[in-house]
Amino acid sequence: MSEDELRPPPIRPANWLPGIAAPAAEDIVSCVSCGLCLPHCPTFRLTGRETASPRGRIAAMRAVQEGQATVDATFRTMMDECLACRACETACPSGVPFGRMIEAARAQVEQVRPIRARGPRALGLKYVLPRPWAVYAAGTGLGLAQALRLDRLAPAAARVVSPRISLRQLARPLPQAMGTGPTAALLCGCVMDVAFRDVQRDTMRAVAGSGYRAVRFRPGGCCGALAMHYGYPEAARRMARERIAECEDAEVIVVNSAGCSNHMKTWGHLLADEPRWAARAEAAAARVRDLLEMPLVTRVRDLGTIACHDACHHVNGQALGPDLRRIVSSTGATPVEIPGGGHCCGAAGLYSVLEPELSAQLRRDKAEAISATGASSVAVANPGCAIQIAAGLREIASPIRVVHPAQLIR
Ligand code: SF4
Ligand code: SF4
Repeated sequence: MSEDELRPPPIRPANWLPGIAAPAAEDIVSCVSCGLCLPHCPTFRLTGRETASPRGRIAAMRAVQEGQATVDATFRTMMDECLACRACETACPSGVPFGRMIEAARAQVEQVRPIRARGPRALGLKYVLPRPWAVYAAGTGLGLAQALRLDRLAPAAARVVSPRISLRQLARPLPQAMGTGPTAALLCGCVMDVAFRDVQRDTMRAVAGSGYRAVRFRPGGCCGALAMHYGYPEAARRMARERIAECEDAEVIVVNSAGCSNHMKTWGHLLADEPRWAARAEAAAARVRDLLEMPLVTRVRDLGTIACHDACHHVNGQALGPDLRRIVSSTGATPVEIPGGGHCCGAAGLYSVLEPELSAQLRRDKAEAISATGASSVAVANPGCAIQIAAGLREIASPIRVVHPAQLIR
């Protein structure tokens, strides 16, 4: 064998787009391609395609990292089809941090998205969400369109999963503060604040009734989770800095949306390279409590049987499944398990709008599983899941009501 043949092949430079967040090389190599995550992945279960599996997606990231592929349309489709539900992360025996890998990969693919598709995403995630007045304007516009029934003109897939906006609720601001005790600041958020104002009010009541002085963050102030999940980390950083500055006096930061609490617990990691913010972000993240983690005082009522829906960002991100059942039980209701309870409902942030076909299959499966429980209501603690599940139950004409745990406690 000649000397040339014995020489190892040259290491090719990674093909990530420069100046944009990218999956870390050490995260990519932590996957040993064992495939144990495959049965847990909703998109693999639906399609049976390796390219729609966690292992396939990581292999695609590895090919770009090793200079054998580029961030192109094929790579983009593979990342777009992922729900970022992190069921693979929970299942993985090697501890592969898939959640942060897919977020970074999505920052990359956003750069190669045709401008026609990128424009509306950038408008919503980069320009509307960071501006509370724009969040309100968008919510009010949607509420008016629904009141005038102009929403019928929207594509059916978008209409089904649009949150119902109550203009009456929107016109009733949350109180600045309720109760006495240690200060607990409630994240108002974006979707929660414009589409679930009644849940926000019940959350403040529940927290105040449990011995806290419940105050609210700035109305309409988004935590940045959606921007982070969909490839706009700079917008997510901006929102994190603004929310952190608003809540530094609070002993506890209460969040009643699974996706938001999960994201806010990563603020320290998100701002770790910003000297002015790193320590403040770390401290704020340490004070974040999902509502399910709060020591809540509940009262017993006759609520019947309640099916417990586990939001992915509760079970996969925060291991809060038992807490939901504890709260439901404490109200006197009987918690009921949903068959295939760990499976994603297909809401996944904007997935129901961006990937309507896969999302619709997951929605129907989830609605049928909930219906099979025969429960009177289903407890759901995430706005995307609540909208998606309510739509699914309507589609199959089920009478089961969707309730947020805060509504059980008040
Ligand atoms: S992500 Fe984990 S479980 Fe899935 S193939 Fe890689 S090492 Fe195996
Ligand atoms: S995050 Fe969810 S959809 Fe994406 S690869 Fe993992 S299990 Fe599959």
